[in-house]
Amino acid sequence: MIKILKTIGTDFLNLLLPAICISCDQSLQDGRLIICEKCYNSLPKISPEQTNAFINRLARRDFNKIYIMFEFSELFQNLMHLFKYDGHQVIATYFAATIKKKLKMDYDIIAFVPLHKTKQRERGFNQSEVIAYFLCKLSGLTFGKSILLRDKYTQSQTKLNRAQRKENMRDVFKVVENIENKTILLIDDVITTGATINECARVLKAAKCKRVDIVAMATPVNILQSKLEIDGS
Ligand SMILES: [Zn+2]
Repeated sequence: MIKILKTIGTDFLNLLLPAICISCDQSLQDGRLIICEKCYNSLPKISPEQTNAFINRLARRDFNKIYIMFEFSELFQNLMHLFKYDGHQVIATYFAATIKKKLKMDYDIIAFVPLHKTKQRERGFNQSEVIAYFLCKLSGLTFGKSILLRDKYTQSQTKLNRAQRKENMRDVFKVVENIENKTILLIDDVITTGATINECARVLKAAKCKRVDIVAMATPVNILQSKLEIDGS
């Protein structure tokens, strides 16, 4: 959490500089950073039909509901880059507010897809964790910081075939807390094949939690349109 506070410090410093929106170049009002409200609200969304298309292509589904917030558009990609690589974690607060507005938030715990510790060390933080953290702050729900552990370093799923994806995901995640009968909201940033989130949901369900809903911030629409067969197992 120290890292989060440090980066919020960087955002605070930005308050002292003239700030303009990354999309429309207008000056930002009321202490807003990075992107104006109008441009943020115009980010292309994933429709319910597109979400259904995503679900229908999963060979196996272990979660209950999935909410995909945005299309992985150029503007979203720019925002994610500023968040992930330049540490502008204020973007996570915008994302958290969007989630809170859209969902009922009747969960016991908010968790996130963990990064392998090597990757987390390289990057300094896990962006899904930061979104989950701010969502807990906003909603008053419990932050499931260490429910899931990522034990194995994995390569990207996108270019693997079904059998390779299955092998790649084997024993990656472990549940390390008692979550029996709990309802969990699991946060991920960008989803492509769905194999990672589904594997998280599978191990959470195996640990006897009552419900797992997923929130993904974005998915590339070409994934939804492609003929690539997705296997979540
Ligand atoms: Zn703007």
